[in-house]
Amino acid sequence: MYIIFLGAPGAGKGTQAAYVAQKLNLVHIASGDLLRQAIEQGTELGMQARSYMEKGVLVPDPISIPMVLERISAPECEPGVIFDGFPRNLQQAEALDKALAQQAKAIDKVVYIKVCEEELIKRLSGRWICRNCQMPYHTINSPPKVWGKCDKCGGELYQRPDDTAEAVKKRLEVYFAQTAPLIDYYSQAGKLLEIDGEGGVDEVGKRIVAALHGERICS
Ligand code: AMP
Repeated sequence: MYIIFLGAPGAGKGTQAAYVAQKLNLVHIASGDLLRQAIEQGTELGMQARSYMEKGVLVPDPISIPMVLERISAPECEPGVIFDGFPRNLQQAEALDKALAQQAKAIDKVVYIKVCEEELIKRLSGRWICRNCQMPYHTINSPPKVWGKCDKCGGELYQRPDDTAEAVKKRLEVYFAQTAPLIDYYSQAGKLLEIDGEGGVDEVGKRIVAALHGERICS
């Protein structure tokens, strides 16, 4: 089973992808998390990716595509994967289709979480993330019980350097120019499930599970 979570930065892909991955027992692969880990570990890949990420633009395909394809070839990914943040342009989508086809596999469904631009900016500007487990919080919508600490694991909360007003603007521009065309790509392939992403985390989660249930993917 291979499911892609598609949507703008701030649409809630990370939270919902983690929830569905757990529910379906699939591996959650977030390309942004893989890149941030590489930066934290000071690897060659991390050093190459850092400046792009700080500016809010896409890390070049020759870095991002092999990184994700290598990750999905791990034995633990055999039962299937939930992709979060990948693919982000047509070249990545085609590379993923090709790599899966070589193993007689294919993307099953694409969950597209739709949220209006005004709401995206509001969400990203108040976002705090756990440094340890990546759980997201929001100063107004979903504050932690103890300020600065993750409710789930007690890890330290931080604001991503690319959640500054300038980087957020750039990331949204990049999304609309390069990633949004994937909505048509997967719609034409008959794989798109469009979900209204406005509202609370649980409410949106229920909509996604209901849609996957309708496709006989989720019970
Ligand atoms: P995210 O955590 O998904 O919001 O991604 C944060 C940043 O990582 C993006 O703004 C890009 O710079 C980079 N990134 C994440 N996924 C990709 C990808 N599939 N292709 C290129 N760059 C990516």
